[in-house]
Amino acid sequence: MELKAAPAAAIGPDSPRTQERFGVAAGILPAEQAEKYAQHAAARDHCSSLLGTAVEDFADDIIEEESELLSRLKSVESDWQLRMAARLRESVTKPR
Ligand SMILES: [Zn+2]
Repeated sequence: MELKAAPAAAIGPDSPRTQERFGVAAGILPAEQAEKYAQHAAARDHCSSLLGTAVEDFADDIIEEESELLSRLKSVESDWQLRMAARLRESVTKPR
């Protein structure tokens, strides 16, 4: 026997929470985590619609506080990437 449709609010224990859905929508979660939630949502209607809503909400209306936090997170990330890139360059560029 199979139920035709799960209730809209049937969120499972492994479902991404609001914050995590926004993290996926904003692209600020670690790739591994975002991938996990994307796959979870793809397989489950309740989460795919929630995630879709989060993406829409995010695009439509970013609260100022959130956008500030996001830009801070992004700048931290790009700082890290720059340092990492510099370090990689140092390690492959051998002095003559
Ligand atoms: Zn779920």
